Amino acid sequence: MPDKPIFVTQPFLPPLDEYVPYLEEIWDSKILTNGGQMHQRFERALCEHLGVEHISLFNNGTIALLAALQELRVTGEVITTPYSFVATSHSLLWKGAKPVFVDIDPVSLNLDPQKIEAAITPQTTAIMPVHCYGNPCDTDAIKAIADLYNLKVIYDSAHAFGVEDRAGSILNHGDLSVLSFHATKVFTTFEGGAVICPDAKSKRRLDYIKNFGFQNEVSVVAPGINGKLSEVNAAMGLLQLKYFDQLIKRRKDIDAYYRRGLAGVSGIVIPSRERQVVDNYAYFPILIESDFGMSRDELYELMLGDDIYTRRYFYPLISEFPMYRGLPSASSNNLPVASSVSRKILCLPIYPALENADVQRVVDVIRKV
Ligand SMILES: *Cc1c(COP(=O)(O)O)cnc(C)c1O
Repeated sequence: MPDKPIFVTQPFLPPLDEYVPYLEEIWDSKILTNGGQMHQRFERALCEHLGVEHISLFNNGTIALLAALQELRVTGEVITTPYSFVATSHSLLWKGAKPVFVDIDPVSLNLDPQKIEAAITPQTTAIMPVHCYGNPCDTDAIKAIADLYNLKVIYDSAHAFGVEDRAGSILNHGDLSVLSFHATKVFTTFEGGAVICPDAKSKRRLDYIKNFGFQNEVSVVAPGINGKLSEVNAAMGLLQLKYFDQLIKRRKDIDAYYRRGLAGVSGIVIPSRERQVVDNYAYFPILIESDFGMSRDELYELMLGDDIYTRRYFYPLISEFPMYRGLPSASSNNLPVASSVSRKILCLPIYPALENADVQRVVDVIRKV
């Protein structure tokens, strides 16, 4: 009998009957969006859960990135990583800013702070790093550069829900930090996102920006957008939060299972994480080195043939897409580490419903090579 397919990720859906009371409350109130009860409760619950003070919810992470750039009035050039999901740079293009790609660190796979200074020009206004796979950036080094050159820092924290470093939530770093609650992320509201703000003033402004810029019925104080999270999405978030710790525990076990199973396999490197105190186990990336029995793409195809879905996150690099590849900073000579990692990376299946037998099947296919 053929084995059932193993997906790379799968959202956790709480029992439907637990969602119904939330929906009944929404039906009764007739308030579907624009900061209703669910929205307010979800904001408060998130602040508490994440250990942050101010949060502004959004309808997705990409609009949240755009709103963050709008709030900080980012223009000109923005230093960012090519090793991310394409929305990171796309938000800069939508804002009319020019992405300047800087290479990543070979261990953290995040923007390499040592290479940032050389990319700064008089037009540079901001840095947009990504906590890739939820692995915290070198936030101290990035802050030192930003302070020295008076640059804004916007963290794309789409992978970093619940991650903590020595200072607590990594979402507290930077001028603003942006989350995504997309269905493929470790925490989901179907679609959704948020901006973590350092003070009540910037939260208030972001609340205006996501509602077309309306301060009140008659005043518009910013060229805002429609970035509002609906009540049904907020309710899903409240329900998901109840399960989050339990889901992370299961992810942690899967992570440990992979680490044991893949230990000592030559040519398989598991990127190490140095600044993490609390992990969210959102992804399980491995690097397929040249001393492994086959190439990354061969392994990807082999697993696909076995109904095991993995992801080549992030391949191609953002800088290789047509709207970016003409930029001087997009050349692979400027990005040797990112170019190399992008051709070796493979993200293995990890999600709470994955069973140990499934994990073993993935490990077996790799070990057999
Ligand atoms: C998912 C993701 C986004 C976009 O978030 P959406 O909620 O899907 O708009 C942005 N950046 C990174 C790194 C992501 O992984």
